[in-house]
Amino acid sequence: MVVVVKNSTNEQELNKLMTRIKDMGIEIHVSRGSMQTVLGLVGDTSRIDIETIEALEIVEAVKRIQEPYKNANRKFHPDNTVITVGDASFGDGSCPIIAGPCSVESEEQIIYVAEKVKAAGAKLLRGGAFKPRTSPYAFQGMRGEGIKLLLEAKQVTGLPIVTELMDISQLPLFEEVDIIQIGARNMQNFELLKEIGKIDKPILLKRGLANTLQEFLMSAEYIMAGGNEKVILCERGIRTFETATRNTLDISAIPMLKNMTHLPVIVDPSHACGIARMVKPMSMAAAACGADGLMIEVHNDPPHAKCDGPQSLTPEAFEDVVKSVNTIVPFAFKG
Ligand code: PEP
Ligand code: MN
Repeated sequence: MVVVVKNSTNEQELNKLMTRIKDMGIEIHVSRGSMQTVLGLVGDTSRIDIETIEALEIVEAVKRIQEPYKNANRKFHPDNTVITVGDASFGDGSCPIIAGPCSVESEEQIIYVAEKVKAAGAKLLRGGAFKPRTSPYAFQGMRGEGIKLLLEAKQVTGLPIVTELMDISQLPLFEEVDIIQIGARNMQNFELLKEIGKIDKPILLKRGLANTLQEFLMSAEYIMAGGNEKVILCERGIRTFETATRNTLDISAIPMLKNMTHLPVIVDPSHACGIARMVKPMSMAAAACGADGLMIEVHNDPPHAKCDGPQSLTPEAFEDVVKSVNTIVPFAFKG
């Protein structure tokens, strides 16, 4: 980080600022020019709040040279992080697929879908029990009962399960859940991120609806700073001016994130577009760009789904997507 000090600053004021920075354990290289003094800060500057320093009377400008995320940064961890759950490894060059309905609706439904997606090649089962719905009048999920049904489907099929945690009070119900999902709407629920940073379970962190990649990584950083390094990032489409699709799939986020971080990056083409027929081309594109996995919504009866029917694939359509993706994975871009 570089701090440019105003040329009107006297020695006493400058020393006060330098002491304040040094007290944070940071080394300073001072460069005095005829017009201005520049302080080069060396060390872990991730704890420095740029705005606070910038607001000081004597400071002209502050520039961060290094990214504020340390644990998630590829610079400090050049090798890919590989997160293995059951038969799936995220980050090893393969592209495991997580599939299942948007919401768990009944015992028959979740077991039927679990068996179908497993037969088609899915490595994990997804299903929402606690649902973050835009309308309070929409189906809110089966909650604790939904988790029990997912665990039953796990027992029947052997597929590990992924489901969303919306509030830390729900955590006791997640003991046997294999991957905890943090949904797009909670990506910046920092208290929740801090709590899941204390547990030893993989976290599937979805990108917020309108968040930059740096903000996305800062949220991963919250989890990692607590000690939980098992974070899988999920690009699921962002808000743009386009209305033809539910969101806009930011396909460029895959190679970009993989450059910025060592964490695995997966793609959810279902929520990205909101249209079932778009899932196949988007899945193929994601695989080609080097995605470390996919998460796809599959329903036994999409027209009658309680949630996200229009984007849900039938088990047959899902099988076709898996086959197409598998033909692409060997040729995927690896950076
Ligand atoms: C989901 O995966 O069920 C979900 C609600 O996704 P998102 O948080 O990406 O909207
Ligand atoms: Mn959904």
